[in-house]
Amino acid sequence: MALVEIKNLHKSFGSNHVLRGIDFTVEQGEVVCIIGPSGSGKSTLLRCANLLEVPQEGQVFVRGEDITDRDCHLDAARQQIGMVFQQFNLFPHLSVLANCTIAQTTVLKRSKAEAEKVARANLDRVGLNDKVTAYPMQLSGGQQQRVAIARALSMDPALMLFDEPTSALDPELVGDVLTVMRKLALDGMTMLVVTHEMAFAREVADRVVFMDGGVIVEQGPPSEVIGNPKEERTRTFLRRVL
Ligand code: ADP
Ligand code: MG
Repeated sequence: MALVEIKNLHKSFGSNHVLRGIDFTVEQGEVVCIIGPSGSGKSTLLRCANLLEVPQEGQVFVRGEDITDRDCHLDAARQQIGMVFQQFNLFPHLSVLANCTIAQTTVLKRSKAEAEKVARANLDRVGLNDKVTAYPMQLSGGQQQRVAIARALSMDPALMLFDEPTSALDPELVGDVLTVMRKLALDGMTMLVVTHEMAFAREVADRVVFMDGGVIVEQGPPSEVIGNPKEERTRTFLRRVL
């Protein structure tokens, strides 16, 4: 069974028909990178995958459970999905450690001690075990993004969604975040990553999905989609970004 299966997904904002029938699966352990021009619906697709946006038509299955079904326990399904945004969205008034424990104690009902143990392990994983008492403002953008990754990991997600996680960073800070993501991928984490980092997609992705105009134009191994695209629209896009 696929970890995530999306069937005939349609999403409109008013008269703007943004997703026009997306069919798509992510297998356990797979790293899928989504590429495509601005406005093609990449963020909307990620947000529909955990129902931050409710699609007008179509279904999203997580481990076989239809999370678009009204009877589905959405919070339980969502807990399996971690999300990392372009803007890190940390709580500014909470320390790094508290940012990584708050959802564990409130949502998962873990004890403070247990939550801190998990948080410290994940902060260690992203190379920030020396920053537990710092506040977000005291950190660089790259460090803040790594805290956001540690926070998401602390919920033990089955799937991690990344929406352009390095786009808001100064160029010299991008590498640290990509290194953490590369390590996560090697550890077997299932990841769905919207990115403009073609070198990362080429190296880390098992599959690359090219979206344009709310549809998947082509998908396959990076060597094909980036290295030798079949579709003219993909070639045009790659000429602009490579
Ligand atoms: P991408 O991430 O590929 O740049 P998006 O999914 O962000 O594309 O946006 C696709 C289209 O949907 C754009 O035309 C955008 O203006 C529109 N859109 C996205 N989110 C909203 C929203 N919350 N309300 C209205 N329109 C939206
Ligand atoms: Mg986007």
